[in-house]
Amino acid sequence: AVAKEQDQPFCFFSQQTQAELDKRYQLESYVVDALRNEELSVHYQPVVSVQNQQVIGAEALLRWNNAQLGEVDPEQFIGIAEKTGQINEIGNFVLRSAIQQAKQWQDRLGRPFRIAINISPIQISDPRLVQQIDQLLRCYDLDPRSLELEVTEGVLLQDSYQAEIVLRQLRDLHVRVSLDDFGTGYSSLSYLQKYAFDTLKIDRSFITDSHSNAQDRELARAIIALARKLNLKVIAEGVETEQHHRFMQQENCDYGQGYWYGVPVPADTFDADYIGLSRTAH
Ligand code: C2E
Ligand code: MG
Ligand code: MG
Ligand code: MG
Repeated sequence: AVAKEQDQPFCFFSQQTQAELDKRYQLESYVVDALRNEELSVHYQPVVSVQNQQVIGAEALLRWNNAQLGEVDPEQFIGIAEKTGQINEIGNFVLRSAIQQAKQWQDRLGRPFRIAINISPIQISDPRLVQQIDQLLRCYDLDPRSLELEVTEGVLLQDSYQAEIVLRQLRDLHVRVSLDDFGTGYSSLSYLQKYAFDTLKIDRSFITDSHSNAQDRELARAIIALARKLNLKVIAEGVETEQHHRFMQQENCDYGQGYWYGVPVPADTFDADYIGLSRTAH
């Protein structure tokens, strides 16, 4: 048996790798056509004010439904689209869809409605990004203050000089910028000052176990306190239970997002559930 294992490992290893490469190659080739074949759509998840649970806006979340592959996990295909270069075009599609949608909902509601859109580090390094955003805001006549771009720490690590310039240009347009998944990466606290974010999004990992894990609870509290000191708004991600919601209410967290308030849904469902009647979440 030992001899056999010694004979086999390379063969076994390379077979697995080949299968993975095939899968990846397949995904890559499908990603290239996804936009043109109209397989991409944008879903919207409500963002609520924690104190009164009023829906103040939404996060736009990309969805890919392919005939052969079914629903593909965004984390997976966005990573591939970043490598193939498709992310710029795809990101532009999300920006256009979500900005147009936000304008419609804002007009119907007759009050500000904030749209949050995730931006990949690759998009930040595209010199056309700021101008594209400026044009889309003008084209759809959306107040730039209603647009919140979500970046992760990856943006700051990859090319911090370029990121600093782009984030400053966006601020000059009066677009808001939030730091997504806060607490999970490598960010030094000095980034918070340097890049002048408007909002911190506490990563959902701190909320998930906040009722059972004292350390996560304290970290969530500390992040909220930090945001207060720096004059940043704070959004709790992954609010899945009433306990999570109550905890965030006690801690005076500004905004919340999570399955407890509402899951990501297609635009028409969001419209029916939150805009038409302009109810509060849950
Ligand atoms: P994210 O920006 O941190 O988005 C939040 C993710 O948490 C979403 O996953 C959302 O569906 C999920 N979520 C919301 N509430 C809850 C909850 O209560 N519990 C749990 N367990 N999860 C919750 P999704 O839609 O799968 O997106 C995953 C990630 O993919 C996003 O994380 C974002 O980094 C990326 N992404 C999604 N859409 C886009 C896009 O248009 N552009 C770029 N560049 N990235 C995107
Ligand atoms: Mg996000
Ligand atoms: Mg997040
Ligand atoms: Mg994330």
